Amino acid sequence: MIFRDELLKWFVEHRRNFSWRRSSNPFVVLIAEILLKKTTADAVEHFIPGFLGRFPDPFSIAESTVEELRGFLAPLGLSTQRAVQFKNLAGALIRDHQGEVPSKLTQLLELPGVGPYIASAVRCYAFGGIEAPVDSNVARIIVRLHGITPSRFEARKSPEVWGLAKELVGQDTGTVREINWALLDLGAQVCTAREPRCQKCPLRVRCCFAKAGKERVK
Ligand code: SF4
Repeated sequence: MIFRDELLKWFVEHRRNFSWRRSSNPFVVLIAEILLKKTTADAVEHFIPGFLGRFPDPFSIAESTVEELRGFLAPLGLSTQRAVQFKNLAGALIRDHQGEVPSKLTQLLELPGVGPYIASAVRCYAFGGIEAPVDSNVARIIVRLHGITPSRFEARKSPEVWGLAKELVGQDTGTVREINWALLDLGAQVCTAREPRCQKCPLRVRCCFAKAGKERVK
């Protein structure tokens, strides 16, 4: 699909090189995705080396106290609730998976604090699964690209949007990570919520939003 080639070419020059993207350790990927849920990627990038230095696996989290975890998470503005969530997650990984992060979607979805986005992201980034995780940034791109208005569901939860994202990502295990990262980076840098920079977008010739002339002209 031409979308994919255009996206991948753009990604070569514009990719953001976060440390967790260089890791295929499923635990690192899972922790990063959980932290990214309520925190900016730049903040997580500064925070995660220290966190993983102290808590390199589920066992080290299970052996720590909620107070210690809360102290670690405080600079990110995360609460006691998130510290408890990490403890519960570590407990489930140890109890049900011998301290390993499972690779099946159904097993990931059973973990405390893991919803469809995080499960799909871990499947893709840690295990190379053909997945198209849709967060609000990716949903925005899909909605604008196809000129759709998802009904009944918030866009990032819409089955229609998830289906179109999966179509865009394709079936090639060799490029699935890069395409998903490219969508995330495009949403952060170009197809932003308030001022999409369509003139700089690799998808503009095929985008309904841009064709309708709604883009920012600069
Ligand atoms: S052309 Fe504009 S609206 Fe369409 S995906 Fe690109 S930045 Fe977003």
